[in-house]
Amino acid sequence: MPTTSTAAFPDPNLGEPFLLTPGPLTTAFSVKEAMLRDWGSWDADFRAMTKSVCDQLVALAGDAKGGFVCVPMQGSGSYCVESMLGTFVPKDGKVLVLANGAYGLRAAETMRYIGRAYTLIDKGDYMPPRGDEVGAALDADPSITHVIAIHCETSSGILNPVAEISEAVYARGRKLLVDSMSAFGAVDLDVNRIRYEAMVSSANKCIEGVPGFGFVIARKTELEAAKGNCHSLSLDVHAQWANMVKSGQWRYTPPTHVVAAFLEALRLHAEEGGVPARGARYARNRDVMVAGMRELGFETLLKDRWLSPIIVTFFCPADPNFVFTRFYDLMKSKGFIIYPGKLTVVDSFRIGVIGRMDEHIMRRVVAAAKESLTEMGVANAAPPAAALAERAKLAA
Ligand SMILES: *Cc1c(COP(=O)(O)O)cnc(C)c1O
Repeated sequence: MPTTSTAAFPDPNLGEPFLLTPGPLTTAFSVKEAMLRDWGSWDADFRAMTKSVCDQLVALAGDAKGGFVCVPMQGSGSYCVESMLGTFVPKDGKVLVLANGAYGLRAAETMRYIGRAYTLIDKGDYMPPRGDEVGAALDADPSITHVIAIHCETSSGILNPVAEISEAVYARGRKLLVDSMSAFGAVDLDVNRIRYEAMVSSANKCIEGVPGFGFVIARKTELEAAKGNCHSLSLDVHAQWANMVKSGQWRYTPPTHVVAAFLEALRLHAEEGGVPARGARYARNRDVMVAGMRELGFETLLKDRWLSPIIVTFFCPADPNFVFTRFYDLMKSKGFIIYPGKLTVVDSFRIGVIGRMDEHIMRRVVAAAKESLTEMGVANAAPPAAALAERAKLAA
């Protein structure tokens, strides 16, 4: 398989295909290696590892004053979103859910399941919710106590304007919760610059760990006030935190190997230069990959302004010789696993740019796409007119 090493990173996955997906993603070899040991969950060594993870994550969020705490939660990202919503929204609260894709809609679905009041702004597949419309919705409904925003809506790859949304929320005395699953660690969510009560992310996104747990970073006073809110025993962030403060332990079996891998991932994150450097590498990955794909005739769903440095949606080419499943298999045979699209109106696919990869790999992704098109007999990757008409609806 054509996965030779590059100058920046030695081959992180021993010839296995690169995952161009937004988590699980391609992790460094040393991250995988960190899992080759067993840990006792009650042991002091493991308790110290958990504490180190939490301390480092609070620092990544920019808090140096002890005003915020980090609580790790077992499970995939969705478990942690559910735990954040269930813990921070009181039983008589009401949430304004801002949706522009699958993850926003999942947050709304979660509210329905846990039986809390909510209202929804649904912007469709990829229009960003803007500060002024959030403000208008809050003015119109004084019973709304919280707003949940998706930082990077991973289904389209749009980077939503959370700073603007936060201002609209706090100008009206409401509270913001953020799903920063696919952005935290690479995109700024510094508590000194963007106000929020709690955010959630997971081990297997921009910190480049493996899947198995997520974490909530929350204003301490808000977490203290959240005691007794949660509908669920295992998802109660307050109870998990209280237990950690008391004993340094997770309440129930922690994913020990995943935590060990995550510590190594955090070490690499710091070594690279933290959030700005991680974000810069991903942005460079995106720029190189998008420029190359556009040269082949591919077009992005989003205008440059909204393109996240996380994942990019492309329209499928109009050429009838283009068949996505064939393209997927050809790309995989060349060492790259891409991601199907999630749009409702036009055919699309996605390419993630996060994980242990740099621009050298991105150039090889473009070369692989070019070869794959040739093998399929597609001369030009230009999208159908309908796709461009759809895109023209993007106002801003
Ligand atoms: C990955 C992700 C989640 C969580 O998804 P899981 O499959 O449960 O890990 C939630 N929100 C966003 C924006 C995501 O990118």
